[in-house]
Amino acid sequence: MIADVSQTGRIVIIRAKTLDVNAYLILQKDHTIAIDSLLLPRDSQELANIAASYGKPVKYLINTHFHSDHCLGNHFLKQPQTTQINQEDYWNTIVREKAMINPKRHKPVEQRKLTKPEITFKDEYLLDDILLLSTPGHSPDSICIYLPAEKTLISGDTILNTCSGRYSLPYFFWGSANDLIASLQKLLTLDINTIYSGHGFPLIKTDKITSDLTYLQSLINQVNKYQSQSLSSDELAQKITISDCLNSSETPAVPQVHKLNIQQLRI
Ligand SMILES: [Zn+2]
Repeated sequence: MIADVSQTGRIVIIRAKTLDVNAYLILQKDHTIAIDSLLLPRDSQELANIAASYGKPVKYLINTHFHSDHCLGNHFLKQPQTTQINQEDYWNTIVREKAMINPKRHKPVEQRKLTKPEITFKDEYLLDDILLLSTPGHSPDSICIYLPAEKTLISGDTILNTCSGRYSLPYFFWGSANDLIASLQKLLTLDINTIYSGHGFPLIKTDKITSDLTYLQSLINQVNKYQSQSLSSDELAQKITISDCLNSSETPAVPQVHKLNIQQLRI
């Protein structure tokens, strides 16, 4: 079910009830740019209907990264005239990973449902007046979309949020903490007023980037501190609490992410 559709200027935000995942449309003069395509077929179909309702072709389809909730609905949005643009690791990452959403379930995504990009890029790609930026960390192929005119960043899962008001821990189980730190530091150099995350409500200002950096750097330091002791990920997760790694007393939205992050750091 689509939970909410809202529009700010040329940016249309479509939020699905499942996972509070967002897709975005950027309404250009004579075409539309679609960003991400949701997870459930019914939601993706509705997203395609919303895109069609503006009477402009979806000229470009961009995925912020390979996770199913951001790309599984591509075939609903992609028309013969649509050019799909991804970071160059997108397809390799899909092929490499067996499970995309729940790593415990090992449920492979059906390849026939996925669509291949016509254009790939490595570091940056200028599309109309918007900039696509490689921001690995959450996953190797993660990108952010920067709209300088609006001082707005569409962040995918590089910067996470919820609708609950709770704190979304940065999540790098599928990627790398050090890459994510470098990407967030790069984003801090941009002039940003609003961040539209891959999940949940928009974030105003860049405070979330700063607190994510605090969490990531503290977590790495803490894990290094215990390096000489041969502790399992579970034991480490008991020793290093989430509040040890955050400056504030925020309540985390999905505390399990912390343990998966520790697991990734131990690989
Ligand atoms: Zn993701």
